[in-house]
Amino acid sequence: MKAAILKVPQNIAQLPLEIVDIANPEPIAGYVLLRVRACSVCRTDLHIVEGEMPPIRAGLIPGHQIVGDVVGGATAELPLGTRVGVSWLGGTDGRCPYCEHGRENLCDSPTFTGYTVNGGFAEYALARADFVFPLPNLDDLQAAPLLCAGIIGYRSLRVAGVEKGERVGLFGFGASAHLALPVLRSWKCEVFVSTRGASHRQLAASLGATWVGGERDRPPVALDRAITFAPSGDVVVAALASLRKGGVIAINAIHLDRIPEFDYDRLLWGERQIRSVANMTRSDARDFLQIANQIGLRPKVTAFPLHQVNEALRAIKNDSIDGAAVIVP
Ligand SMILES: [Zn+2]
Ligand SMILES: [Zn+2]
Repeated sequence: MKAAILKVPQNIAQLPLEIVDIANPEPIAGYVLLRVRACSVCRTDLHIVEGEMPPIRAGLIPGHQIVGDVVGGATAELPLGTRVGVSWLGGTDGRCPYCEHGRENLCDSPTFTGYTVNGGFAEYALARADFVFPLPNLDDLQAAPLLCAGIIGYRSLRVAGVEKGERVGLFGFGASAHLALPVLRSWKCEVFVSTRGASHRQLAASLGATWVGGERDRPPVALDRAITFAPSGDVVVAALASLRKGGVIAINAIHLDRIPEFDYDRLLWGERQIRSVANMTRSDARDFLQIANQIGLRPKVTAFPLHQVNEALRAIKNDSIDGAAVIVP
């Protein structure tokens, strides 16, 4: 099969992913072999490829938002030809204190698709059969970005404790935020979007944002909740400055450049909270996919062939496309 392999993590401008011909993955008990139909690109892929997340295995195939057909390892629940999705959480040990208390996103021995095991920037991929999800009635390109950007965006809303009708700020407006916004609208929330790029602001307005502004503009009202999407601590502090007393920020980023010093008395006191969002649980995935189906969520996508995977990652880094980038092998 053809696959995009990471030999040495480096800046995306150096084209770190190389397209090679390798043997198909061998089926293993408890796993399904998938023929990949589409695999969406996430900012985490960029952090892996550029080495901001420490390399774990040599010759890694990244990619963790896989839509594929079961072509091997079929079971009664997952017969041959079933179309399923695979996300970042590729497996857990099922027996650590976190797994036992319903917090499998924090598992002590997790498997991460496209990081600790090979992922979906390839023609075929293996996935644990108990960590794949049947997909709603979306086409391949539109289903793929739901599988991390969508699920983790949804988890961010949960971590921030969003309640119906609240004022919610989205700081940064990439793949994840543009999927969270329609969910918030379906909960009758007012949504305030600060982001760089006129086209991102237009997309946010067209999806029903109450207010849109540039990355340095402060929303005109105090926010109940905020979610930050940029890998930047400055953005977290800007979001904090927009929060009412008792408000909560959820940081939807696996890596931040740093957190700058800020004024505790003015910005955090008053029982404001800063929380991080780590990974996802299978129930986040199932709940979100159900909501996506109910509200008819249709991601905005740009497709790239496998041989342009470096270009797709560069587009994410430069914020040069609206919505999500999807690799079609
Ligand atoms: Zn991701
Ligand atoms: Zn565990």
